[in-house]
Parts: sequence; C-alpha cells; structure tokens
Amino acid sequence: MNYSLLSPDKDPMGAAIADYQKRGKASKLRVFSSFFDEDEIPVSQLFRSFGEMPPLEKTALQLATGKILDCGAGSGCHSLALQNMGKEVKAIDISPLSVETMQRRGVKQASQINLFDNHFIEKFDTILMLMNGSGIIGKLAYMPLFFNKMKQILNPGGCIYMDSSDLRYLFEEEDGSIAIDLAGDYYGEVDFQMQYKQIKGEPFDWLYIDFQTLKLYATQSGFTVELIEEGEHYDYLARLSLLSD
Ligand code: SAH
Repeated sequence: MNYSLLSPDKDPMGAAIADYQKRGKASKLRVFSSFFDEDEIPVSQLFRSFGEMPPLEKTALQLATGKILDCGAGSGCHSLALQNMGKEVKAIDISPLSVETMQRRGVKQASQINLFDNHFIEKFDTILMLMNGSGIIGKLAYMPLFFNKMKQILNPGGCIYMDSSDLRYLFEEEDGSIAIDLAGDYYGEVDFQMQYKQIKGEPFDWLYIDFQTLKLYATQSGFTVELIEEGEHYDYLARLSLLSD
C-alpha cells in the first residue's frame, strides 16, 4: 500500500497538468507499463468539461450528494463540475503540482493528501473515485485495507462511486476463449510509470477490477455493491454502500 506523497521532481502528471493550465498546451505525457506498449495520455482530456465527460462520469457526478470527496482529483475537472452544480466538494491528490493547479483553477478545497494517510479521517457522504478510480487501491490484496479506510471516512448512509474496467479483453483468443493464468496474479494488476519532459515518476501499481471480483471483496468487508451503469468497453460504474446494522 502506498501512503506517501509525491515531490515536485517526481510528479510528471502534475507537471503536465500545470503546463497545460498555464500555457493551454503541454508536451507528451508518456506512459510505460510491462503490460502494454508505450502509450500517451492526452493532457487536454484531463481538463474535460462536464459536457466532454464519458456518460459514467456524468452519472456519478449527478448522483453525488452531501459532502463529497473527489479522490485522486488530478486537474480538478470533476470538482469544478460539482462546484458548478452547487455541490460541496473536497479534492485530494498526492501530486503537489496538480493540487496547486486545482487551487489556481478555483477548486475551493484542494489538498495534497494521500487517501490512505492514517491522519486523514474527515467524514464524507459521497466518495468519488473516477477515471478507473479503483486504480488507487493498487493491488487486489489491498482491498480489505481500502474498505477499512472507507469505513473510517464515510458518514452513515454514505456511498462510494467508483469506475473501473474488466481487462479480460486483453487475454481474449481469436476463438473468443480467455487465456488467463488463474494461478498467477490477478489479471487486473498493472504497473505504470510516467514521464513528462525530463521528469520521470516512480513506478506504481494500478488496479483494474472486474465487477464480480469487486463485489466479492466488497461483500466480505460489509459493503453492498450495485452496478449503476456499463460503458462501451468493459467499463462500468459501481456504487458501494455500507450495510447499516
Ligand atoms: N480523477 C482525475 C485524475 C485521474 S489520474 C480525472 O479523472 O481526470 C489519478 C490521480 O490519482 C492522479 O492525479 C494521482 O496523483 C492520484 N492518486 C494516486 N494515488 C493516490 C492516493 N493514494 N491518494 C490520493 N490521490 C492519489
């Protein structure tokens, strides 16, 4: 589990976000992974307006109520959209340059906080984890820790909206069968590393989780899970709420 914050010299995505905010353009934000070929994140997409967001994200923002936590908020696109709707939101991110950018863009509450920091115990009615938000959990083995954290910071009756994708399509053979090594690590556990200009970040774990596996772990931790909406490509939005006793 990652409990730390980034420093500005190891914050490639934050540097890209800060550049784009200042100049209206950015260089390539490169993404490396042992899973995929080298790829690129279009920095402009991190600045999407409500109208430009995928349907799953729009739904999550519309359903969010009460005091909202935007977890891993990046450029603050979701927080700004929520503020425009008149909703109360706090944005957190481990990236110093992203937090600075959010403050400049008018996000009223933006702080450099790691979700898993033991000192972070503020309470929320809605917790948003968007843009493959399950990624922040890192590995399947951390699911129980994640749900414990959620229990600490959710108000009674509160819930989490999380989007993710089922990566099974990466393992599909031509005949439609799926070649996944069931004895190996869970197939949604991916490693990433990013680079922007000369700034290279540390490698990090990112978890993609299929709905059934999410449900299994959530239920074991006392959460109910609902499939709210499915996207176009193995992606979905889930609502996780705590069963009240
Ligand atoms: N939600 C934004 C950004 C997604 S990228 C959007 O949809 O555009 C994921 C973000 O999560 C990055 O900005 C990264 O710095 C942040 N992050 C990763 N681990 C985190 C953690 N443990 N706590 C808080 N933020 C985290």
